[in-house]
Amino acid sequence: MSESSAPLPVVDWLKLPEGDDPYMEGHKCTECGAIFLGERDNCSSCGSRGMMAATKLSNTGKLYAYSIVHRSFPGIEVPYVSAIVDLDGGGTVKGNLINIDPDPEKIQFDMPVEVVYKDALGRKDRDGNSYISYFFQPAA
Ligand SMILES: [Zn+2]
Repeated sequence: MSESSAPLPVVDWLKLPEGDDPYMEGHKCTECGAIFLGERDNCSSCGSRGMMAATKLSNTGKLYAYSIVHRSFPGIEVPYVSAIVDLDGGGTVKGNLINIDPDPEKIQFDMPVEVVYKDALGRKDRDGNSYISYFFQPAA
């Protein structure tokens, strides 16, 4: 009945297949194996053209880098941890690391993390749509 239906992904490379688990989609160069987020036709690693193929990215990876953010836009709770994660099998993704204290003593480079998909902090757009985002958390 209503048109406000399923939540939307926050970025177009986050896929929400109906009746299946969400995943992130990358594009992999079939020449050199480099993986990028989002659609592209040409590989910026080896320069091949038209050799990119969509690939489902892993939901696990390792923490490559992070920063603890203490100041942000009004309404955004701080501190939070902004992280860059190297996914297992390829692909590098920036996102927030959650379910961990924003404390450098507790956060280790290369620590295993997993991707979780959930509501984008309750934010809605002007049409009332809610959004699904991805987050990282320490691997169980
Ligand atoms: Zn390539």
